[in-house]
Amino acid sequence: MAKSTDFRYNTGATRVPWPAVGENYNKEDLMAVVRFMMKGEGEEYEKAIEAVKVEVEKLDKLATPPGKLSLGPQVEAAEAACDEYLKTSGCAFVANATAGFEIAYKYANLGPGDEVIVPAITFIATMAYPLSVGAKLVFADLDPLTCNMDPKDVEKKITDKTKVIVPVHIGGYPVDMDAIMEIARKHNILVLEDAAHAFGAVYKGKMVGTIGDFGAYSFHEVKNCTSFGEGGIVTTNVDAFRPFMKRSRFFGCNFDTPIENWLYDVNAMPGKYGPFVALNSSTTEIQGLGLRLQVERYEKILAERKAAAEYITKRLSGNDAIIPQDVSNPDVQPTYHLYLLQIDPAKAGGNVQTLKQKLTEKGVTNIPHFGPLFHFDLLKTYGYDKDEIAKTCPVCEEVFNNRFTHLPIYGLTGEQLEFMADAILESIAEMQAGK
Ligand SMILES: *Cc1c(COP(=O)(O)O)cnc(C)c1O
Repeated sequence: MAKSTDFRYNTGATRVPWPAVGENYNKEDLMAVVRFMMKGEGEEYEKAIEAVKVEVEKLDKLATPPGKLSLGPQVEAAEAACDEYLKTSGCAFVANATAGFEIAYKYANLGPGDEVIVPAITFIATMAYPLSVGAKLVFADLDPLTCNMDPKDVEKKITDKTKVIVPVHIGGYPVDMDAIMEIARKHNILVLEDAAHAFGAVYKGKMVGTIGDFGAYSFHEVKNCTSFGEGGIVTTNVDAFRPFMKRSRFFGCNFDTPIENWLYDVNAMPGKYGPFVALNSSTTEIQGLGLRLQVERYEKILAERKAAAEYITKRLSGNDAIIPQDVSNPDVQPTYHLYLLQIDPAKAGGNVQTLKQKLTEKGVTNIPHFGPLFHFDLLKTYGYDKDEIAKTCPVCEEVFNNRFTHLPIYGLTGEQLEFMADAILESIAEMQAGK
């Protein structure tokens, strides 16, 4: 218990204001931030910095420091912006998408012996939590056209131990969620959407990431939009859990009502099969501000990505060795986080490895594409046999080795996009000519 002489715990009128308990930022720090956000060098640059510094000195006399740096009004405003955009309520802004997955997995009370179905190709973040608590990963094979999990194969791999199905909208291309949800409902299994690439994707009129029981988006620096490099939003459709969503990112604390002795006032969170202990995946006010700024201009970001994808698809259409990204299905609106390029090896005179090598030689950067997870050493350590698993995911092996790659499309000039399309067409022509 706090002693009455410990003013930090005095909740009465003499209570010390919040900023007094931690070190704040000052004008010198702000100048360091300006230099970080707007890098440069040279005489002109230093002159401009000096001019800003003079104005900051003036501001400093009028301004107060933010005081609140963690989980405050900026985080709330970012969440409100995301709720509005996603048409959700009660979403939580967390440290990253992986932390969002963790909340959903904890809600499922995932433990040793439980099974989780993940797609054969995704990023390690999708499966790290199940692996870390001793649950068993089961790999669903892919739909050869979208490189997303194939619902038919998911259904085959369900057992009475399956607790969670994790559709990953790879590259921002929506998984066939109707099929996944139907299977999950039939077997009373939770669905967690890995929407790390899919903030703003639409599937049959619904926002991707808000269709399953849980969904999480990533705002890591390489995703479509970011909150100063790290961040994630987690949403839920489980009505009974919604009031606990934000609490689950900070030890179960409820900040909605004034808390007198908050250090001792923490609750277990209600999971599907029993309580769980929430950890800490809080975000900062600066991240909250950063996320809101990018969400506010997100429609423009998406439109630019879409225009680039449409251009590449147009350029590659009509070549029967190439299967360009589909941009014309109104039911499925991807985020074009990555451009999915596929080839037909029989018609292209070679496989995608040859194509990638040729593109590299011509100066087109490939994105190091997502590979079959069961080839990772990490899984070997935990007793998974990659050859045995590969036999249960034949499509995955085939598309990965021979057919698909991801191309970068954002932030490229028209000229660069043209160069990329030319390079792809030239490479295929060379392969067909046996060069
Ligand atoms: C980036 C990524 C994640 C993890 O996102 P973080 O915010 O970095 O935790 C999860 N799944 C996929 C497919 C990703 O690419």
